[in-house]
Amino acid sequence: MRITKSFAETREASSGTVGLVPTMGFLHEGHLSLIAAARRDADTVVMSLFVNPLQFDRDDDLVRYPRDLERDVALATAAGADIVFAPDVEEMYPTEQLTRVNVTGLSDELEGPKRPGHFEGVATVVAKLFAGIRPDRAFFGRKDAQQLSIVRRMAADLSMPVEVIGGAIVREKDGLALSSRNIFLAAGERRAALGLSRGLMAAADLVEAGERDAKAITNAVYFEVGDALEVEYVTLADQDLVKPLTTLDRPAFLALAAWSGKTRLIDNVHFDPDDGGFVGDRGTRLDTASVLYATGEG
Ligand code: AMP
Repeated sequence: MRITKSFAETREASSGTVGLVPTMGFLHEGHLSLIAAARRDADTVVMSLFVNPLQFDRDDDLVRYPRDLERDVALATAAGADIVFAPDVEEMYPTEQLTRVNVTGLSDELEGPKRPGHFEGVATVVAKLFAGIRPDRAFFGRKDAQQLSIVRRMAADLSMPVEVIGGAIVREKDGLALSSRNIFLAAGERRAALGLSRGLMAAADLVEAGERDAKAITNAVYFEVGDALEVEYVTLADQDLVKPLTTLDRPAFLALAAWSGKTRLIDNVHFDPDDGGFVGDRGTRLDTASVLYATGEG
C-alpha cells in the first residue's frame, strides 16, 4: 500500500490497467464494495480520498464531515487498494479553480436545486481526478444516483477514455443505506430513517408487480415514511437525463432526500429493464454491524 499526495506520484506508482474509486473517506462497506469491484477488474487499484470543498453547499457540513486517514488506509488496504491518493486542498487546487465542469440539464432536478453548486463541484473534481490519474475504469456507487448519471454523461461528452461503472447500494442489516453521515444519527433518528428504505422496497415490489404510474410508485414511499422525517423530495427520474417521469417507461430511479434531525439522508432504488418489465435494484445488505460503528482495536 502506498499513500500518495500528488497526481505525478500516483501515476508513477501505477502500472497496467488502473481502476479508480473516488471517495471522501470515512469508509464503510459501500466504499469497500467498490474497491473490491475495482480489484477484480484492474491491475492497480487507486482509491482517492479527498473531502472536496468545492462540492459542499453548507459550511457546517464541510466542517463536521468525519475524517480519519489512518482508519481509512487500513480499511482500503484490507479491501484490496494498492494506492490511497490523499491530496491536500493546496495540491488539488494550487490556484483558483477557474475552470468548472457543468453537465447542463442533469442537475436541474432532485439534488440540484437543493444543493446549489454541488454537482459542479463534483464534476469538476472528478474531471481533475480522471485527468490526473488517467484511470481505465472508475467506480461509483448507485447510492448517489444523480451523481452517477452526471459523471457518466461528463465522461461521454468530453470523450474521456474511462469506463464509468456503477455499483449496487450497500445497506446496513436493517436496510438503512450506508453513509458516512449515519454516525451522526441518534437512536430515535435512526429508527425513523428506516422508513426510507422500507418505502423504497415497497415501491420496488409495486413496480415488479406491474405498476408504472409515478404517483402510485412515489406514494408507496410517503406511506412508509409518514411524518417521522422531513422529506425534501421523492421523485422517479430517468437514469440518462435525470428528468422526472410520470410513467415508468425507461431505465429510471426512484430517489429521495429527507432529514432525520440534523442529518440529511438520500437513498434510491434503480429500475432496470428486465425481461420486458423492470427489476428494482434493492442493493445488498450486511449481515453484521458496519465498520462505521467499530471502535478502538475492532
Ligand atoms: P463518498 O465518500 O460519500 O463521496 O462516496 C464515495 C463513493 O462511494 C461514491 O461513488 C458513492 O456513491 C459510493 N457510496 C457511498 N455510499 C454507498 C453505499 N451505501 N453503497 C454503495 N456505494 C456507496
